[in-house]
Amino acid sequence: MTREALDHLKRQISVLDYLQAHDWRPVRQLSRGRWMGLCPLHPDHHPSLVVDPSKGLFYCYGCGRGGDVIRFAEIYHEVRFPQAVAMLRQWRGVAPVLQDAANFYRLQLHRHGAAVDYLHQRGLRSPEVIDHMRIGYAPGACLRGWLMELGHPLAVLSQAGLVTSAGYDAYMRRIVFPLEGNLYGRSISASAPPHRFLPGSKGGLYFWDQVRRYREVILVEGLFDYAVLWQAGFHNVTCSLGTHLNGYQLRQLSDCTRTVYLAFDADSNGSGQQAAQSLAAQLRERGSNALKVLLPEGQDPNSWFVQGGDAQQFQSLLENAQP
Ligand SMILES: [Zn+2]
Repeated sequence: MTREALDHLKRQISVLDYLQAHDWRPVRQLSRGRWMGLCPLHPDHHPSLVVDPSKGLFYCYGCGRGGDVIRFAEIYHEVRFPQAVAMLRQWRGVAPVLQDAANFYRLQLHRHGAAVDYLHQRGLRSPEVIDHMRIGYAPGACLRGWLMELGHPLAVLSQAGLVTSAGYDAYMRRIVFPLEGNLYGRSISASAPPHRFLPGSKGGLYFWDQVRRYREVILVEGLFDYAVLWQAGFHNVTCSLGTHLNGYQLRQLSDCTRTVYLAFDADSNGSGQQAAQSLAAQLRERGSNALKVLLPEGQDPNSWFVQGGDAQQFQSLLENAQP
């Protein structure tokens, strides 16, 4: 990497932003726009870290370490310089490589009968829903070459979690759904763990920008649930990717007063319903109206539609939802 490229990277990533993204909180402001707080690089009880955003530098009076954002990443993540640079580039730019990977997977989908068959099995038949969700398939070959051809270094691919340490596509034989800053992969083979995400946050609620305008919202836990509902015409549906909502998703869902229909899995052990129960309580505390959609035992919205449920019947499930 050239000197210019390094300077460019440092200009793009403010040391203050990077620290704050790693949960650093300034305790007080000093002169000339500098900030002081506890040092995350050593066990610190009195604020001894000074951050100077205008110079892009930090210094700790406790452990005596300081430097630029790359130096911080080296110490904080305990990595060498090239790896710190790769991590920072990834932090800044995971979006472009994920975008390119998602495009590759989309091109593959219709070339692989097994993938299309799997979608049919899960009730996904309309080309509109496949387009809308930008669904793709990872055949397990050619991804690395494709992305490197587009200029993404191998280090960035493995840092992003797209390829394994052995250089294979980490999503091999999975249906792939792009998320905000992540990818969800559903294995089509029964022998692999069903769900896979890239390391890092699963992001916010799925397609929230399109859903937030509705006063009544349906929340499901999986993307295949989302797909069948959207396909059936329920465009006020969103997905939390699991029954546990992160703080960001919870803030999104309660950004105004709305009715949230919780259509979680009706697992026979009751875990989905328990999760719905506790989420409903949290939403009510935040001023929203939460109702639980009651599916037959052992069903989730996906299996319910696959087994013949239709839009009209789901509408009556909504109407019979319970607080
Ligand atoms: Zn320190």
